[in-house]
Amino acid sequence: MSQSVLILGGGVAGLTSALLLAEKGHAVRVLEQNSHLGGRLCHAPPPVLLDAHEATWSLINRLGQDAVTRRLRHTPLEFLQSTGARIQFLHLPLPSPLNTLLGTTLFQGLSMRDRWHLLSFLERTWEQDPPLPNDLDSRAADEWLTSIGQSEAARHGVWNSLARLLVGAALPESSAGLFMRTLRRCFLTGARATKLIVPPQGLDAFLLAPLKTELDRLNVQVTLNATVTQLRFSQHRVTEVELADRSTLTADWYLSALPPHRLTPLLPERVITHYAYFQQLSRLKEASWVAVRLHLDQPVKQTQLVLLEGKTFHWIIRHPDETRQEQTSVVWAQAVGESDLLPRAKEELVQRAVEDMAAAFPGATTPRILDGDVVRLASAMVASRPGAHQYRPIATSPFTNLLVAGAWTDTGWPANLESAILSGRRCAEALSASSLHQSS
Ligand SMILES: Cc1cc2nc3c(=O)[nH]c(=O)nc-3n(C[C@H](O)[C@H](O)[C@H](O)COP(=O)(O)OP(=O)(O)OC[C@H]3O[C@@H](n4cnc5c(N)ncnc54)[C@H](O)[C@@H]3O)c2cc1C
Repeated sequence: MSQSVLILGGGVAGLTSALLLAEKGHAVRVLEQNSHLGGRLCHAPPPVLLDAHEATWSLINRLGQDAVTRRLRHTPLEFLQSTGARIQFLHLPLPSPLNTLLGTTLFQGLSMRDRWHLLSFLERTWEQDPPLPNDLDSRAADEWLTSIGQSEAARHGVWNSLARLLVGAALPESSAGLFMRTLRRCFLTGARATKLIVPPQGLDAFLLAPLKTELDRLNVQVTLNATVTQLRFSQHRVTEVELADRSTLTADWYLSALPPHRLTPLLPERVITHYAYFQQLSRLKEASWVAVRLHLDQPVKQTQLVLLEGKTFHWIIRHPDETRQEQTSVVWAQAVGESDLLPRAKEELVQRAVEDMAAAFPGATTPRILDGDVVRLASAMVASRPGAHQYRPIATSPFTNLLVAGAWTDTGWPANLESAILSGRRCAEALSASSLHQSS
């Protein structure tokens, strides 16, 4: 039976739900406070995608973009060592876990002793003997890596950078369970899982633009500049939403695809105090993100990704300039969870990015900077802290017609693009299953 659905928030999570629900014949309307769709994706540099991002690739293919994505090249994962050398983790075209075992054996970024400890841990994990401890989600990744024999040099030189890239936090602030699960998906599942893809053109061309076209074709109603200010409830259901202009809207279903700190102010106090589901959202902390974008007068053939340790920025992406002349390139120096960087002057951040870039890409000639800018987000993504998983909500709320999506919800992934898309998919499935159940 066709249902009317109001989706609050036009980020990737909300738009994925909108697409899947409209395809099932539901009447969908998206409310977005900004004058454009896409949410956080719009601020972001070219994203780092993994082959293991199954929901992301499945959505991109569903949008008919498989031919475009097949042309995207794999980006090598490189670590800048304290010696100044760049060491690559080799992506070997072998079935899993052989590719990772051999890649680890050959990886010069870890000492022989660290490699040996890691390989013996991987072998035991593969055989599930002994099973992984069940308190990993509440332990810090730093402490857990120490417990499996990883030295301080390995933790600082390799694992810390990888944790920042994959889960968005340094090792002491990362949940061991989330880091472990993400590593397993990246390195121990499928021959292609370790493949990293950094599309230089960003996601607009092959995700956001085709998604908007498809929503249009399916008659999804999109209302921009529409800020939701309140959700109203009866005992078990949402009854209406109020917008900033005081107008109200009603539907059979309401789907929140807002960040957690934007959802709770919309709820009456009694709802927050009565339901642990909503109360615990205040325990989720968001991490900051600062990036410097530099436009250089030197070209680059292939996209590069270098993880840094002991520098201002945590990783650098250098990619060919897709929009301007071929003789130029773009560099993104990025740092997560370093709130001290937020108030720094643009000139200082640019200068530090130039220094980190020179360390990552030493060359005979220094490139000239054609232009540069700084992007600062105080709340970029929900932090992957030890214990945080228990506060991330599932899609179905205590109210029968309210679903909750967003990268920060309980998907088993860090709060990334894959998580946002997966959460949107789960909400669409929950709604379809529930309306089927009601009509039978
Ligand atoms: C800088 C940056 C870099 C990133 N890099 C990567 C990467 O390399 N790889 C990766 O996988 N992921 C990356 N991510 C994460 C990924 O972009 C996000 O997880 C994803 O886009 C979040 O989507 P979402 O729909 O859950 O939330 P959002 O994008 O936050 O969408 C929420 C929407 O709700 C709207 N909204 C808020 N309040 C209201 C209101 N009251 N009324 C109406 N609308 C409202 C907002 O305007 C927004 O459009 C990055 C994120 C950032 C910020």
